[in-house]
Amino acid sequence: CGIVAYVGKRQAHEIVIKGLKRLEYRGYDSAGIALLNGGLNVYKKKGKVSELEQYLKGKNLDSHIGIGHTRWATHGEPNDVNAHPHYSSTGKLAIIHNGIIENYSALKQELINKGHKFLSETDTEVFIHFIEDIKEHEKCSLDEAVRLALTRVIGAYAIVIMSLEDPDLLVAARKGSPLVVGVGKDEFFLASDATPIVEYTNEVVYLNDQEIAVIHGGKLSIKNTANLPLTPYIQTVDLEL
Ligand code: GLU
Repeated sequence: CGIVAYVGKRQAHEIVIKGLKRLEYRGYDSAGIALLNGGLNVYKKKGKVSELEQYLKGKNLDSHIGIGHTRWATHGEPNDVNAHPHYSSTGKLAIIHNGIIENYSALKQELINKGHKFLSETDTEVFIHFIEDIKEHEKCSLDEAVRLALTRVIGAYAIVIMSLEDPDLLVAARKGSPLVVGVGKDEFFLASDATPIVEYTNEVVYLNDQEIAVIHGGKLSIKNTANLPLTPYIQTVDLEL
């Protein structure tokens, strides 16, 4: 299970796929990527990252923002549909998630009662529907909706969300699962550990539990789930590849 995301000048799919390969050692059963290439498009496959790569061959992948995931199934068998990323109900948001949402079935029932329909058996799809439901109900920003959702979600997570409505926005958060932000020159990386990042930048921020990172318009800001703004603590890493 691993997470890689990118926003900046480069082709996102190249960085994300390469990064997912660097995280292969963590073990996984399926892999997927979401890009903003004409729309918010998700490509996912059961099996190895190389099988996802094969599936992507010949497609127009031109996008400067992207999120990618290798899944270690906890809720729902390993198959193409249960693989990440997952869409929200309008299809305007996509999420990648490592971890487990323990109270997902209660949240799912609440959402089903409101008319939500689910494609997969995952806890993760419930999570992104829940976030969008809050966003629409509260008429708030995506990062505020994520924050509010996290005050009601029980479990462990590292998440990254991208939006069809903003090609320059990534919202990430963690509790109990690792997540690192790579700070480049006019570009940002997110990953489960620093190995997918270090060939591009050695400046990283290790997110702490209950922290939300918002990368927007080329700037990184961090707050916690109590809505307290925090100063990003940038560390220099020196990893041998
Ligand atoms: N619980 C999620 C799922 O089963 C995420 C698993 C993971 O950490 O890869 O899809």
